[in-house]
Amino acid sequence: MDNTNMKRLTAIPVALLLLSPLFADEGMWPMSEIHRLNLASKGLQVPVQVIYNPKGVSLIDGIVNIGGCTGSFVSPDGLILTNHHCAFSAIQEASTPERNYLENGFLAKTRDLEVAAKGQTVRITESYRDVSSEVLAVVQPGMEPGARTKAIEKRIKEIVLDTEAKNPGKRAEVSEMFIGKSYVLFIYTYLKDVRLVYAPPRSIGEYGGETDNWNWPRHTGDFSFFRAYVAPDGGSADYSTANVPYHPRRHIKVAPSGVAEGDLVFILGYPGRTYRHRTASYLDFEYRVRMPFTVEWYGWQINLMEAAGKADPAVALKVAPRVKGLSNTFKNNQGKLVGIRRADLLGKKRQEEKALADFIQADPQRKAKYGTVLAEIGSVYAQAEAAVPREFLLQFLTRSPEALRVAFTAYEAARERQKPDVERESSYMDRNWKQTSSRLVLSLRNFDRGVDEAILRNLLVRAAKLNAIPALRPILGNGQGSDIDRFLNQAYGATRIHDGKIVEDLLKKKPEDLDLFDDPFVQLASKLYPEVQAMKEAEKRREGDLNRLYSLYLDVKKDFLGRDFVPDANSTLRLTYGHIKGYEPRDAVFMHPITTLGGVVEKHTGEDPFVAPEGLMELHRKKDFGPFAPPKLGDVPVGILYDTDTTGGNSGSPVFNGRGELVGVNFDRVWEATINDYGWSALYSRSIAVDIRYVLWVALKFSGADHLLKEMGVKTN
Ligand code: ASP
Repeated sequence: MDNTNMKRLTAIPVALLLLSPLFADEGMWPMSEIHRLNLASKGLQVPVQVIYNPKGVSLIDGIVNIGGCTGSFVSPDGLILTNHHCAFSAIQEASTPERNYLENGFLAKTRDLEVAAKGQTVRITESYRDVSSEVLAVVQPGMEPGARTKAIEKRIKEIVLDTEAKNPGKRAEVSEMFIGKSYVLFIYTYLKDVRLVYAPPRSIGEYGGETDNWNWPRHTGDFSFFRAYVAPDGGSADYSTANVPYHPRRHIKVAPSGVAEGDLVFILGYPGRTYRHRTASYLDFEYRVRMPFTVEWYGWQINLMEAAGKADPAVALKVAPRVKGLSNTFKNNQGKLVGIRRADLLGKKRQEEKALADFIQADPQRKAKYGTVLAEIGSVYAQAEAAVPREFLLQFLTRSPEALRVAFTAYEAARERQKPDVERESSYMDRNWKQTSSRLVLSLRNFDRGVDEAILRNLLVRAAKLNAIPALRPILGNGQGSDIDRFLNQAYGATRIHDGKIVEDLLKKKPEDLDLFDDPFVQLASKLYPEVQAMKEAEKRREGDLNRLYSLYLDVKKDFLGRDFVPDANSTLRLTYGHIKGYEPRDAVFMHPITTLGGVVEKHTGEDPFVAPEGLMELHRKKDFGPFAPPKLGDVPVGILYDTDTTGGNSGSPVFNGRGELVGVNFDRVWEATINDYGWSALYSRSIAVDIRYVLWVALKFSGADHLLKEMGVKTN
């Protein structure tokens, strides 16, 4: 958006904004609410029970959460369609420099050639029920805030364990819907044997790379296929060659006829997080503090890893998933910083809140109950801000350098696993331990000393300047670079923390053994542990305060608006709907909502990230489109744009037409819509999918995956 356009956005009177769709928050509907939408009037051609039917089988039975993304079953034999970027780590893990599936793509021609995607899981929503009163029963008036957080956490874990005991083989999660107010227990089927079936080469799956990421027009074939397997008796099981394909209760029909401009589309998926029911003080904290820090720190790491990758292709392959993840968040935060400023989102949020504050002050009873809520929430974020330099450092020290991350996790695990199960941090509970420990060992595969050392060095230099983490003083010496370098040299020379066997062994040890364990990173972890613990306690106190305050805030907001609103996204199943629709990102610029294969060719420069494979160019030259080019377009559609309400986690979500058939795979939003997470707008909120016709065309014509089309019931001519 440029400033001219912003004038248009900001010219809308504030009173109108409060009621207008600029801050419409009802985009991501829980299943319990979708009957309120009257989707038939919007273009839905099937009864709403086809989408969600608690008493029978419906589309939601075909939707999965796959490693934080969404996917859908597209065959009776457990074939899952999701994004290429959601399969990225699995593809990378199956690759070696000599057999590079990221670069060249991967296709299993027969089922026995499908590759285990280690650590990948699939979650299917089975049922849910409100457990707010059970959870909130543990809250006492006047409770110390840290104790409040811990009591709620413990009660949630008890409910989870109890539910899992009563439902063998299932997983339970309690999700907070409205902070401090409502909690829902979800029961999930959880599948653990997931295999990679087909991924196009990066030059298709990631065409346009970071240059095009978060942008429209888009020409990325961001799709891939997995398959879920179960034990021969149908139960969830770890990987085994004896396992058989999972038969979902429902699979989604793909529609090679696709969609056209103006058509209704809807999306089912697991959107991760939005923050629309937070205060201006929250947004201010994010905007001034967290986002700039993320941009600076992630940007630095990306440059470092890209340079290391340029010098050595083996390192490039190792760091590829991290570079991709960091770059995605980096650019998203850049988009948010620009978007918040240009749309004056903070100014509008403050005005909205001023109206709420006036409403509170206008009535003595309301004033008595809610009069200090906004200021109190503001003071919690002020406390968080005051703690920031030190807390960010502690968080990233134990997260960014692999050696210290692994040592710290092993140390923390040893401490936590001495506590009763319900008092442990969730990842160390018995129900999660196997996955936590195997993922930790698996992650060592990507360890690179040069990159790791540089990351830790950067953080230690910051720590020396800040001089607020006593545990680091012995190794920082007088804070000179030479002291830090001496430590790094010795530590990386001596450590064996990157050896999987050693880590497996560490994970069995008691804290007392680890305190004496002769490894520089385990030693450092044991010194940092008390400081990290103290930080976590402070976080829990802030969380406890916010839990109490936001529940009041939400009550009064509801009174003020005089209506209900839907909860923020929280990785639970939601529906959003919209239409295939262009938009105007800038004055006098209109973007059409469908891109084509011709556009892929047009963007090809021969230079990364615009290097389309020769085979694909040749097919285009020959106009070998098969049945996937609608006559009106005379070309294969590649990307589609629509005004639904999505966020991260909706990656891989099926995009449905009005008949409930799959016409696309959602993978991104436009640059302006990165601020969706704080406020949705009909003006700028647009999401992006890869058109199913491009998926099918690439699979058939470029990769020769006829068998997969056949499996999905799609004709190939
Ligand atoms: N590409 C996005 C992601 O990284 C999807 C989105 O946020 O809309 O998750």
